[in-house]
Amino acid sequence: MTEQQARTYLDWAATTPLCSQAADAMCKLLIPWPDSPAASFNANSLHSEGREAFTCMEQSRASIARAIGARPDEIIFTASATESDYLGIRGMVRGLRDARRRTSGNKDFAGKVITSTIEHDAVLSACAMLERDGFEVVYVKPNKQGFVTPSEIEPYLDESCVVVSIMAVNNEIGSVMPIADLATQAHSVGAMFHTDAVQMLGKIALNVRDSGVDAASFSAHKICGPKGIGALFLRSQTAFVPEMVGGGQERGMRGGTQNVAAMAGFAAAVQQYCSSIADLEAEAARQRALRDYLYASLCSYEHVVPSVPCVEGSRDYAPHIVNVCVEGIETETLILQLDRAGFAVSGGSACSSHSLEPSRVLLEIGINKDLALCCLRVSLGVFTTEDDCAQFVQAFDSIVQA
Ligand code: PLP
Repeated sequence: MTEQQARTYLDWAATTPLCSQAADAMCKLLIPWPDSPAASFNANSLHSEGREAFTCMEQSRASIARAIGARPDEIIFTASATESDYLGIRGMVRGLRDARRRTSGNKDFAGKVITSTIEHDAVLSACAMLERDGFEVVYVKPNKQGFVTPSEIEPYLDESCVVVSIMAVNNEIGSVMPIADLATQAHSVGAMFHTDAVQMLGKIALNVRDSGVDAASFSAHKICGPKGIGALFLRSQTAFVPEMVGGGQERGMRGGTQNVAAMAGFAAAVQQYCSSIADLEAEAARQRALRDYLYASLCSYEHVVPSVPCVEGSRDYAPHIVNVCVEGIETETLILQLDRAGFAVSGGSACSSHSLEPSRVLLEIGINKDLALCCLRVSLGVFTTEDDCAQFVQAFDSIVQA
């Protein structure tokens, strides 16, 4: 057996392996000259090749839109969810500020943004840029269970607020936010609602129409699609100022020649894992059972505590994320020992995995610094089996009992 075959990947919240459907869809377009298919040319060209590439791109857009209840013209392709977060938040904030300035006649109107302290760095960095541009940004704390609810937002909500951005599912602890309620609350003062839905896609059914969100960000590589492609859902008619205009692609919302092959891979992954609500719910139930088994097994050790109160069967937390603190063993040591035993896990967000600082998310929910320095995130996906989890528990046992 090769080293590759012997390994068990349990870091699906960081990224996922490519599924065969996505690989096939891309390979059909990634054929070198002289056999390059017509759809591999520029989707904005007027010739037959261009029109074929355009058709392929629009089919991908339509598949993704269908899976989340959007219209195809409400999907803007980007290079990542990081870009989608940035584009969605900044684009709406600046669009709404300009609209308010026009309607109120107050040319100094700046506008307030509300987000949370447990957002992904992509959102926090976009907000930091807005602060530098003179906007007021309020960072609300989650409650102790890791949720940002209307009660956390309420004290800061007023007519000056233009955008509220709260993630749909937290990537470290898995808390599922009440995005429909938060969207209604934002609308009550005329603000728009954006959500980073990266960890929700393919795990929990999302209909952008029913939930009332105005914008949502997605990433292909979290659902077995390729890296380097994301999408922004932007409700039609939403005030918006684009960032990268260039050649006017994506209806002028995001310039740059489109990566049609990556879009095809993204759409194939969406088709495979997000298009049937029944299949999605069955898979979520399977992962929830594995999550519950891991929480129960890991927390049976005296010095292991769950980072959140995720009870068996809970839908308040995502089906694929387990987060515990192993008192007395630092995260880095745990990860490296588990790695040597053949398991790929993490301590939280992959973006901060080289940082020796404790997880910001765990500190925000009230976990003390010493404990937060000993956290472990195990995350599951469509190819994770019961056997993988049982073997992981055995390896964990030999490390914590040593
Ligand atoms: N938002 C969340 C919640 C994530 O988990 C991630 C990925 O780690 C991102 C945004 C960034 O996604 P991408 O890697 O596509 O930029």
